[in-house]
Amino acid sequence: MRNSLAIGKISGISIFIHSTFPIIIVWIVFINVRQGYSTEQISRSVAFVLVLFFCVTLHELGHALVARRFDIETKDITLLPIGGVARLENMPENPLVELLVAFAGPAVNILIFLVLYFSFVISNIPFNITGMVHITGENFFYNLALLNLWVAVFNLIPAFPMDGGRVLRAILSMRVERLFANQIVAAVGKIIAVVFIGLGFFHNPFLILIGLFIFWGARAETQEEDHELSFLEYTVEEATTTEYHVIQKSDKLEKAVQVCLDEHKTGVIVMDGQVPYGTLSLHRIIKALSDGNGNTTVDTLTDVNSVHVEYNESIKDALLLMQQHKVSLLFVTKYKQLLGIVDQQSILAFCLQVNDDSDD
Ligand code: ZN
Repeated sequence: MRNSLAIGKISGISIFIHSTFPIIIVWIVFINVRQGYSTEQISRSVAFVLVLFFCVTLHELGHALVARRFDIETKDITLLPIGGVARLENMPENPLVELLVAFAGPAVNILIFLVLYFSFVISNIPFNITGMVHITGENFFYNLALLNLWVAVFNLIPAFPMDGGRVLRAILSMRVERLFANQIVAAVGKIIAVVFIGLGFFHNPFLILIGLFIFWGARAETQEEDHELSFLEYTVEEATTTEYHVIQKSDKLEKAVQVCLDEHKTGVIVMDGQVPYGTLSLHRIIKALSDGNGNTTVDTLTDVNSVHVEYNESIKDALLLMQQHKVSLLFVTKYKQLLGIVDQQSILAFCLQVNDDSDD
């Protein structure tokens, strides 16, 4: 993330703090000074915030390490004043994996809360779950327990960009299409955002900030999903067709004309026995006919400089190859075996199909 400073690595994942992070420290000091607290109390408050952010880091590591179990690596973890962000290499597609990865973060905070809570119970110290007092040496761990619970609850709000939004989307994705699930969560997020902003005006202005954060999150998430579906990023294999027409190189030109006319094709594949020999475009056929070469065999007209593309290259790369070599058809190969062809027609058909799938 930009404007961030690396502070270390845990389990091979770089941890950054964002340049805006000191705002929270300045804010805590400001509040404490205004309340007239001593230097010792202020430094304890700052230490508390740092420990709290260590818990936030553990929360992000929860996401990262569960994602790693499913072979998804994490680029880095950045700490912002409002919380942490773990940037995964790619988003889990499987709803169950998404659910586990999203829930892992809040689960870490719940675990910290439970450990602290039971230590209080074992030591016979009364624990009032609703009380929150100023941070001093005596209630440091009490507040830490409460805030971890609060971080867990806050993150489980069922709206983007909170973990709860992803948990909800994962659960919905098990029943409906992912894109629809996404829209539902975005809509729920907007409602929650409006409620927070409304409450903020009457109660705590901090809620307005959270509301705006959720509102922005709902928008960002839907835009990201739309971008993900660019058909140019799919592999060539998806647009490959095996419905092409072949003729032998010893065939007469007349046969090529017949195939193009009957099948509405703009070209044919010329074979040498079982091996692809080259391509013959309708354009070349018409030119040969107008030159009066109607009686010739196709091998003399075949474009043997046929271009091959590997099945796992992107459609974008395929289109670039066509442009570079001025051809309208590519042979698609998988480990040197002919898989089929891609031409402008098959790419267009695939593009329309992808659009159709994302519309409904
Ligand atoms: Zn999280």
